[in-house]
Amino acid sequence: MNYDMILLRYGELAIKGKNRGRFEKAAYQHVKFVLAPFPQAKIIRVYGRMYVELNGEPIEEVVGALRRVFGIVSLSPVKRAPSELEPIVETALQLMAEMNPGENTTFKVTARRAWKAFPHGSQEMNHLVGAPILRQYPQLTVDVRKPDIELHVEVREEGTYLFNEVIPGAGGFPLASNGRAMLLLSGGIDSPVAGYQALRKGLEIEAIHFHSYPFTSERAKQKVLDLAQVLANYAGRIRVHLVPFTEIQTRLHQDAPDNLMITLMRRAMMRISTRLAEQRKAGALISGDSLGQVASQTLGSMNVIGRVTDLPLLRPLVTMDKNEIIRIAEQIGTYDLSILPYEDCCTLFVPKSPSTNPNLRVVEYAEHSMKDYEALLEAAVAQTESLVLRAGGSPDHAIVLSGPERQDASQAEVSGKPDEQPARTDDWF
Ligand code: ATP
Ligand code: MG
Repeated sequence: MNYDMILLRYGELAIKGKNRGRFEKAAYQHVKFVLAPFPQAKIIRVYGRMYVELNGEPIEEVVGALRRVFGIVSLSPVKRAPSELEPIVETALQLMAEMNPGENTTFKVTARRAWKAFPHGSQEMNHLVGAPILRQYPQLTVDVRKPDIELHVEVREEGTYLFNEVIPGAGGFPLASNGRAMLLLSGGIDSPVAGYQALRKGLEIEAIHFHSYPFTSERAKQKVLDLAQVLANYAGRIRVHLVPFTEIQTRLHQDAPDNLMITLMRRAMMRISTRLAEQRKAGALISGDSLGQVASQTLGSMNVIGRVTDLPLLRPLVTMDKNEIIRIAEQIGTYDLSILPYEDCCTLFVPKSPSTNPNLRVVEYAEHSMKDYEALLEAAVAQTESLVLRAGGSPDHAIVLSGPERQDASQAEVSGKPDEQPARTDDWF
């Protein structure tokens, strides 16, 4: 259809009065980023909403791109007319002509006079626009409750916007508008989805992955980087921390009771993640736990595992069913990667019967009796490699910030310094 522009509506951020300016700016940056492939498209910011002028860019593709923008609750392709009665009616008739309504189509006009100096009120406009349409299309009947076509007419000072379609957007909060959190990212189905949900809620995420090289292969690591790249394509960029976990796992395997292995590994992961979060000034940890899914995700296990961190531990999937999680994974494009068969560090040491209700005292005792437990954790933190993945890039060209493959320090500049403040999206993409 022949539309001029797309109207973007903010969602939840509208309620957050004092943060509004910051949120709108973050959403604007994100819109700018997704519109980069459409150079003719022009973004117009007005108070409380945004418009994108198409200027000949293909509407379907532009709408598809805009539906990825977090904080946008819905979109409508609109036609714009000068705010005078005659052109408004004419444009309404054009819009109806393009919709080509069939027999028994129900219809109503919903006019809104936002510009009070306009001479006709909202009710009056319903009739002034509706009557000529009904004359031209006798097959239409009016239904004010649940019409097939609802023609919206918004009269504003700068122009009048006409639309009938309301397309759902990604919703949530604008990127990085709610602070920074560390995502524990495995190669599974769940944690990438948890990461997406966190992004959608306006968290800036950094991924932490524990690997057991050489027990786990390069391909297993590559798979996780590929998953992180998918998240980076939504987020603009993502910092990934690769933590060597082999020593810790091997020692736990030697020294600790077999049935507590998973609990102990998870606690070690939480401890290391908490330290990395402190270094990176992140305010929460995120995991892909879903209640009851496996032994480590019972309430009893979650209790014993969660105790080792003071940070809020966010579990966006906790009440979701597996099929719901899979549906989102497919939608966001992580599913096909997640089901690749490469082993994860934890599958290597899976005990025959992991405890579903670990005893906190026994777990703590096992940790205390490992003399160098603390040193092992510190060593893992110190040997962590970090890199930055950027939207549209590839893990092969990631910017390495630390670790053996460290590159020229000047390349680290994009990622900022450790004391960099979160929620700065100006130079995000
Ligand atoms: P997933 O599909 O996310 O791997 P899962 O159902 O396999 O989840 P677990 O293996 O019990 O569940 O892992 C629970 C959570 O612990 C994961 O969602 C993830 O957040 C974290 N986790 C597990 N293994 C790792 C790892 N190797 N590196 C980082 N985080 C991990
Ligand atoms: Mg897993």
